[in-house]
Amino acid sequence: MGDRPYFISVEEACRICQQSAPVLTTERVHIDDCHGRILAEDLASKVHDPPFDNSSMDGFACRFDENATYPLSLSIVGMQAATGHNETVKVGDGEAVRIMTGAPMPPGADAILPIERCQVDGNQVHLQEAPKPHFVRRQGENLQKGNLALTKGAQLTPSRVGLCATMGYADVLVYRRLRIALISTGDELIQPGEELVHGEIYESNSFGLAGLVKWMGHIPVRYPVVSDTMETLREALEDASESCDIILTSGGVSMGEFDYVRRLMEEEGDVHFWRMKIRPGSPPLFGLWNATPLFGLPGNPVSSHVVFRMLVAPYLRHSLGADGPQEWIVRAKLCDSVKSTEDCLTLRRIVLRPTEEGMMAYQPRHQGSGNIESMASANGLTLLQPGQSGDAGTWIDVLVL
Ligand code: AMP
Ligand code: MG
Repeated sequence: MGDRPYFISVEEACRICQQSAPVLTTERVHIDDCHGRILAEDLASKVHDPPFDNSSMDGFACRFDENATYPLSLSIVGMQAATGHNETVKVGDGEAVRIMTGAPMPPGADAILPIERCQVDGNQVHLQEAPKPHFVRRQGENLQKGNLALTKGAQLTPSRVGLCATMGYADVLVYRRLRIALISTGDELIQPGEELVHGEIYESNSFGLAGLVKWMGHIPVRYPVVSDTMETLREALEDASESCDIILTSGGVSMGEFDYVRRLMEEEGDVHFWRMKIRPGSPPLFGLWNATPLFGLPGNPVSSHVVFRMLVAPYLRHSLGADGPQEWIVRAKLCDSVKSTEDCLTLRRIVLRPTEEGMMAYQPRHQGSGNIESMASANGLTLLQPGQSGDAGTWIDVLVL
């Protein structure tokens, strides 16, 4: 390893890999196709929201008169629907207009009484109580034309896509999705669907990692499993560095005789660090292969998932300046004791249950880093800092899965 950082904290590891960002490009896409993408421009509203004063209720529009007594009878002089046309009827003293939700306020009217509080009798309406000015939605009360409502780096959640449309944008500038190579290594790995013979296991990491890559809004590119030789691994890395923006390998980064990812990266690549203080998942590696950022993730299925969440996901967010997808961290009380460590951030799989006292965290399962079922049945990961107690009764931070 020479003077390369070795066995470093998770924060230090994040800082080091974030210095080697992938190359970013942008594209303009229709808002129908921008869900989950990261905005690459600031968006100022092209219009006021709402664009005109309108009713928030189905009811009657009239003038508020502070001296009036109720019930009050008014003559109905017209009907105002949310038609998009501007055929507004005027409202004078002693008059009311039947109005629908979203319809423009008739000139002269300044208050609404919901239909439930009105009695219609031919051309007359009897108001049982005073009409309310707050049922009028004022022009620009949500957003003024020119307001910056979304900024570069915003992840386009469904409500934000709705906001783009509300502000008058049919298309937006977003970052191009990154192509992320997934290369599993190991002579023992067989594709699910085939017959296992003794000594073989199904390759599962690339399938889980592909889901994490998609969750982050990028494109997983799965490579055929690479056998444990320097030549096949070199070939796959050459190909991936030409056609992808980032490479994720799994397996082959520990101390084993056949851990060729680490060996090849040390001999022919550029290792920026190896191993970080995390349990499970301690042997990850980061470096460059032909200038392409490469994360050497551990082979154990739980470890590869955890290292993605703690290292790769923050790296991707940081690279795009993105505010999502968000991680949720909640405080929870440990109801079972979990094993913490002196020097590592410890992520145990737990099940969270809300109670009146707050979130409770249970650890119902065997916690081996090879046990993907312990992850699949959990909904949280403990964030136990090095040296922090994992005794039952302790309140801790939990990353929601
Ligand atoms: P390694 O880091 O290559 O020694 O792998 C550690 C453990 O994870 C071994 O038990 C491997 O069989 C297992 N493993 C490695 N890669 C995968 C994979 N892609 N899918 C499932 N298990 C794997
Ligand atoms: Mg291996």
